[in-house]
Amino acid sequence: MKNEVLYQKLAHLAVRRGVNVQHGQPLIIRANVRDYAFVEMCAKEAYEAGASYVDVDWKDTQLNRLKFQNQSEEVLKDIPDYMHAREEKRVHDKACFLNILSDEPGYMKGIDPLKIRACSSAWSKKMQDLHAYTTNNEGQWCVIGLPSAAWAKAVFPDLSEEQAYEKLEAAIFMTSRVNEKEDPLAEWENHDAELIAHAKKLTSYQFEKLHFTSELGTDLFVNLVKNHIWVGGGDTTPAGVYFDPNIPTEEVFCMPDRNNVNGIVHASKPLSYGGTVIENFWFRFEKGRVEEWGAEKGKEALDQLIAFDEGSRHLGEVALVPYDFPISKSGILFFNTLFDENAACHLALGRCYPENVGNGIHMSEEELKKAGGNTSLQHVDFMFGTREMEVDGIQADGTVVPVFRHGNYVD
Ligand code: ZN
Ligand code: ZN
Repeated sequence: MKNEVLYQKLAHLAVRRGVNVQHGQPLIIRANVRDYAFVEMCAKEAYEAGASYVDVDWKDTQLNRLKFQNQSEEVLKDIPDYMHAREEKRVHDKACFLNILSDEPGYMKGIDPLKIRACSSAWSKKMQDLHAYTTNNEGQWCVIGLPSAAWAKAVFPDLSEEQAYEKLEAAIFMTSRVNEKEDPLAEWENHDAELIAHAKKLTSYQFEKLHFTSELGTDLFVNLVKNHIWVGGGDTTPAGVYFDPNIPTEEVFCMPDRNNVNGIVHASKPLSYGGTVIENFWFRFEKGRVEEWGAEKGKEALDQLIAFDEGSRHLGEVALVPYDFPISKSGILFFNTLFDENAACHLALGRCYPENVGNGIHMSEEELKKAGGNTSLQHVDFMFGTREMEVDGIQADGTVVPVFRHGNYVD
């Protein structure tokens, strides 16, 4: 395997810091079949760390496409009980979950988005009682990216297959902070410390709202819920295990008030939703609800996104990402939210993160909603940060604190 040392380091990072598997803990890996060599590295790392068992859920983009092309909606929606039982057993065993992404963007193009929506909604409903395990960080989970030829070709269509692969590979290692010289675990410790410092400072201001403007025409007021908590870097489980859910991550994020977002926002990057790429789109919010929207490309997929459920018309996340960070500096559009969301300030339609409000993880869905949190069966990030983005924090007494100027933190 070419660059084996770097892949070893990435596996080490994913297992030891990403999910931070503990002695006696199971590890579940979700990966594409083509990535078997890397999955073997991760499994080896996990057993060395004392994992009780490693279980792999294999997937394949072509098989998945065939499934949607050929199965009826009725069959797709019929999630068997044994699937739920399997997930339940894993949660019961307090497993950690590693998701390895290498899918080519847009591979579901042409598949009826209604079918995709019906299937993912059926899956979410079936597994509803198990969502809290990862959503509330009760157990560790981590998502990382791995290059694939098909993904590389979509990102660099003008390069040869080999050149495209090498370029995507280099970009993934660079943004994941994996290189020949440094110890990736130490790199991530320093990086997380920086994000945590920003999050602490923002939390201490307790802004009533944020005001975003950009050269694309964004002019948006996002109220934050009372007693909100900005989060960045890693998370800690109730058992005290520190982990990094996203590798890479460059964001600090918070909880918008689902009923108090007003103005217009223009996306700054395309969004891949249900396998379709949506381009140059915008939303107009009134009292927290998307009232108008449009897109130059992929409008139908955008309609599906908005109509998914009631919560899909409201925001569940607001995140700050400086324009000068490595992912944005790479200038690459990955067509993958894990990477692209870390290139720019973003918002998410749908489910909020309960950790973003005091006592949130102990709240019922009703209590969370009362606090201003949003509930939905989906969470879809879209980027709106730009080189000239300005962000002001406005406190309850009207004091305006500049947070971002020219796309970066003021201090
Ligand atoms: Zn985010
Ligand atoms: Zn998000």
